[in-house]
Amino acid sequence: MAGVPLSEKSLIEGVRRSVGRAGRSALRLGIGDDCAVLRLPMGHEALITTDFSLEGVHFRRNWHGPEVVGHRCLTRGLSDIAAMGGEPLAAFLSLALPAKLSQKWVHRFLDGLLGLAKQFGVPLAGGDTARSPGGILADIVVMGSVPKGRAVLRSGARVGDAIYVTGSLGGSAAAIDRLRTGKRASARDYSQHFRPTPRVEVGRFLRDRGWASAMIDVSDGLSTDLAHICEESGVGAEVEAGLIPLAAVGKQRRSVDLDDALHGGDDYELLFTSRGRVPATIAGVAVTKIGRVVRGRKMLLLRAGRRSELKARGWQHFRGS
Ligand code: ADP
Ligand code: MG
Repeated sequence: MAGVPLSEKSLIEGVRRSVGRAGRSALRLGIGDDCAVLRLPMGHEALITTDFSLEGVHFRRNWHGPEVVGHRCLTRGLSDIAAMGGEPLAAFLSLALPAKLSQKWVHRFLDGLLGLAKQFGVPLAGGDTARSPGGILADIVVMGSVPKGRAVLRSGARVGDAIYVTGSLGGSAAAIDRLRTGKRASARDYSQHFRPTPRVEVGRFLRDRGWASAMIDVSDGLSTDLAHICEESGVGAEVEAGLIPLAAVGKQRRSVDLDDALHGGDDYELLFTSRGRVPATIAGVAVTKIGRVVRGRKMLLLRAGRRSELKARGWQHFRGS
């Protein structure tokens, strides 16, 4: 029935069926009533995050397949839970869909989203569905939990802490650079863009050990997200350009440009500060020291023995492109 638009009722029924009974630990009641009912673990606090995925802003239908849009949509929410050191409990999806959109697109979108949900044991517990007069709008809400008082905030960085990042940076921006030139970019060669992995295990591990004094996920770009930590903590930062782990992309696995690693967004790595020593790998993910927290409010970039100011120039999505 590809090409036939979907009624709201059959869409919800479809979602309900595909959600099945997977990963329902915290969920007492999921799709089908006025509200979902969740059980919060004893001694925990709730974490709630909400993120839009808007056609033309966060994705383009000619660049991103429906599975990719679904996968990236949930990644945004899971990554925010990871950045607090939390455990994701349930996801909620509000969709506004153009009348002309095919059933097939919606099913493939859900496949991508639910595939990632299953990987992290997070049930899709509800949402809303409406007609969009324009493009596709998807809003993901993820609810999580964290032991009382233990959420890792942006405001905990102190002078002398080291700055770390997980994985590598710039891979997502490099894919956009390529797509903008009209070339194709495959999910295999640019996996960080098309199939990013939210660092939930790393975040949980860091929180459990008490190793992260402040943490954020790299969604707007290193420079902008580090600026958020600096602002909230009332500190400055020094980053060594030569230490930043550059993503390897394309068939040749070439390293991305430093600018993409510094300012490119949507990598969904964790950026955190720590007072102690941190292992080089956590939960199979590389962890790299890239600088330190300093006095003042400025961010500085050390490059080839020279010191310059690092300005927050994070990713502006696809606006105006
Ligand atoms: P209400 O009128 O109470 O908002 P709806 O008809 O919108 O009820 O939704 C019925 C059920 O289907 C609810 O449990 C809701 O959470 C769920 N639901 C609706 N849209 C979605 C969606 N896009 N994804 C997941 N669940 C959905
Ligand atoms: Mg509704």
